[in-house]
Amino acid sequence: MALIQISEPGQSTKPHERKLAAGIDLGTTNSLVASVRSGQASVLPDIDGNELLPSVVHYAKDNSVVVGQDAVQYKISDPHNTISSVKRYMGRSLQDIKAKESPLHYNFIETDSAVPRIHTQAGDVSAIEVSAEILSVLKQRAEQTLGDELTGVVITVPAYFDDAQRQATKDAGKLAGLNVLRLLNEPTAAAVAYGLDKGSEGIIAVYDLGGGTFDISILRLNNGVFEVLATAGDTALGGDDFDHAIAEWIKAELNLNEIADKSFQNQLIKAACQAKQVLTTESATTIELEYNSKKYSLELSLEKLNELLDPLIKKTLMPCRRALRDAQVELEDVTAVVMVGGSTRVLRVREKVGEYFQRDPMVDINPDTVVAIGAAIQADILAGNNAEGELLLLDVVPLSLGLETMGELVEKIIPRNTTIPVARAQEFTTYKDGQTAMSIHVVQGERELVSDCRSLARFSLKGIPPLVAGSARIRVTFEVDADGLLHVSAREETTGVESGIEVKPSYGLTDSEIEKMLIDSMEHAEEDVAARMLHEQQVEAARVLEALAAALADDGDMLTADERDKIDTAAAHLLEVSKGNDDRAIKNAMQALDAAAEEFVARRMDSNIKKAMAGHNVDEFDAKH
Ligand code: ADP
Ligand code: MG
Repeated sequence: MALIQISEPGQSTKPHERKLAAGIDLGTTNSLVASVRSGQASVLPDIDGNELLPSVVHYAKDNSVVVGQDAVQYKISDPHNTISSVKRYMGRSLQDIKAKESPLHYNFIETDSAVPRIHTQAGDVSAIEVSAEILSVLKQRAEQTLGDELTGVVITVPAYFDDAQRQATKDAGKLAGLNVLRLLNEPTAAAVAYGLDKGSEGIIAVYDLGGGTFDISILRLNNGVFEVLATAGDTALGGDDFDHAIAEWIKAELNLNEIADKSFQNQLIKAACQAKQVLTTESATTIELEYNSKKYSLELSLEKLNELLDPLIKKTLMPCRRALRDAQVELEDVTAVVMVGGSTRVLRVREKVGEYFQRDPMVDINPDTVVAIGAAIQADILAGNNAEGELLLLDVVPLSLGLETMGELVEKIIPRNTTIPVARAQEFTTYKDGQTAMSIHVVQGERELVSDCRSLARFSLKGIPPLVAGSARIRVTFEVDADGLLHVSAREETTGVESGIEVKPSYGLTDSEIEKMLIDSMEHAEEDVAARMLHEQQVEAARVLEALAAALADDGDMLTADERDKIDTAAAHLLEVSKGNDDRAIKNAMQALDAAAEEFVARRMDSNIKKAMAGHNVDEFDAKH
């Protein structure tokens, strides 16, 4: 993390001492870079004046790589070598991608490292490398405009991005030769751009409707500190769906449903998208098409557009409701609604969102650039250019982080929605006598059983002193840093033996999977409690049987054949029922075994006391009390 420079209050650093820093919005559809110059944050355009860089990369036969608008033209003519929306693949395994995309858009190749590669004619590339190409272009653009090398950048990511996705984004930055000062949540960046951090408190809803995705985030501002309370969204809803709805209407109106021709479809979508954009300033527009030398023309009114889009806009309000509920805030508590993403230019979207939140949404800053502007402001502060001091941004853990404990149960260490950075520790102990190693399994999820959660990493702590079960003290610490990356360490307290891991999870989790895991945890809450009770009884039964076997091996000769028989029968019964799934029956069998072994336990205790006292006299013991 960057060190914060200290300057005298009220005395800003001289211009030539300024460190060049930039904010980058690495978007699914478009990416852009912004920087603070003369105290003002602005987007840095390319030499042709374009602010948005389409997030598209074309890999040519001669191994040359083209990024942005020049790559877009290859999307139709050379689709397999033209990678778009690569953000969807960041931090994802091939299984994850296959589960979501069918058929696959690209020729994916499985690799040993769990990071799949996409086959192109210029070689095989990972999502990290494709993103790095986009970042390189933005880096170059910034350095050309600002006239010097960048000292650091802030890159934005969706608030729901998990550890693997954040790590992949950071890696892409490194690969592009950037010094990534911090990853910043997109909604937080938008709120910063509006200067909402200057207020003292409030609840802010950030409504982000882009090309293919919708995200809603609820932030809480407290004394200039942001905290993400909840996030929700729809990963398959955005401006592209608006275009499709309009295109379908055009086809129906003009009786063009029969035409399956691909280039005509493209023409149709393009015309629909254009009409949508025109209608943000006009009240009607004429759509013109041409097919087989035949010209078509159709009028689209704002009223009709609204009617077509209403069902889609309505679909965004459900996640809004869910996010508010998750954040445990009432609609009336929301003090500001910030609009982000190109699709919030659509007037009807603003209208409906305003209606829902019962307040006018903030739209003054260009919704395409607002995230990059916020990132630039944050980068400027982190680079040490802002004498006003550090802005503290807090985010949350999207899914609970925990450990596997006996019986395949999950012990949550950091619960979901805990603000980061955070460090939490918990003590564990050994299960077996003389156990000298402990395997640590880090999992993420809301469910009670390990099998229902996602496995993040495994490592082991070796060199634990061989002690009686339950007496070693192993402290496991979970730390999530400001970028949302997890470090886990374990330490045996009596010896100081230590081991740790930085979690770079090999398998990503899609946002819809996160959603599903959350819904599952609610739906299965009762079931989970029952499963947990059963597992606990099973673990306890195994422990009792193990202790009994050890005791019988040592002192079995204290028992008559008849007594031994009674204990063995009770133990066999416990073993039998502990394999079943009736936790009450296990509990009863344990009690029965307790009763059968009562006399044996008493006799052993007596004998142990006698052994301990041998060679001592009673007074010696008394004196100690
Ligand atoms: P992403 O966050 O996915 O990178 P953007 O925020 O750049 O996406 O939004 C892209 C979407 O915004 C596209 O669907 C595009 O059609 C839409 N869009 C851009 N300008 C306008 C406009 N003037 N009116 C309506 N929609 C627009
Ligand atoms: Mg966006």
